[in-house]
Amino acid sequence: MDRSRLAYFDALGVDVYVRRDLPEQPAARDPVAAGKPATPEAGSASPGTAGEPGSWQELRTRVAQCTRCELHATRSQTVFGTGSTQARWMFIGEAPGAEEDRQGEPFVGRAGQLLNAMLRAVGLSRQQVYIANILKCRPPRNRDPRPAEAASCREYLDRQIELLDPVLIVAIGRIAAQNLLATDAALGRLRGRVHELGAAKRPVIVTYHPAYLLRSPREKRKAWSDLLFAAREFRRFEAARQRS
Ligand code: URA
Repeated sequence: MDRSRLAYFDALGVDVYVRRDLPEQPAARDPVAAGKPATPEAGSASPGTAGEPGSWQELRTRVAQCTRCELHATRSQTVFGTGSTQARWMFIGEAPGAEEDRQGEPFVGRAGQLLNAMLRAVGLSRQQVYIANILKCRPPRNRDPRPAEAASCREYLDRQIELLDPVLIVAIGRIAAQNLLATDAALGRLRGRVHELGAAKRPVIVTYHPAYLLRSPREKRKAWSDLLFAAREFRRFEAARQRS
């Protein structure tokens, strides 16, 4: 197994046993993203990237100008989303924090580093997925999103989901999951099964937020099992999509 993937497993708290008597293997074939080339540049949704479909660009502009809730008054900038607009995986977090507000990109702080490790552990890179948040603006002092703020922002997220049309959505953490799925069920009850989102019945899987995992590293193993479950379900849904 290549060293970089070992480092990711280490970050996730997953023990990996490597036989010393075998020569080092070439990097494992990407188990989840296999079969589709990454399109980090062509389909990138990074701020200001040329080549976005008009509707992505329009949506980005609308979000950047949004004053629907009071958060617009305290933000440095909106945090629209990042990754490939061709992605088949979508990850949805809660709201930008201080670093995201500063850089204009989701999950770039410490939690973002761990999210990157979680992605790598299942053979994905940030450029191969699309990452967005329930809220596009940072709540002051990183407080939880208020229902009215989430409701104001929902149209933007729904449109992102529609434009992307992902094979699988992963809700990152309790707040994202509860908002996305309109439930107040505890995270423990939401993990480990496939939820259906909206009329399109888009599959959603729920896992822990990396910020929580940084505070509670013993839970990383459960997050790892969520990711394996997500990877399995992704393959199933993608195969079904290809058949239809
Ligand atoms: N936490 C989130 O939920 N989203 C981010 O973008 C950063 C941290």
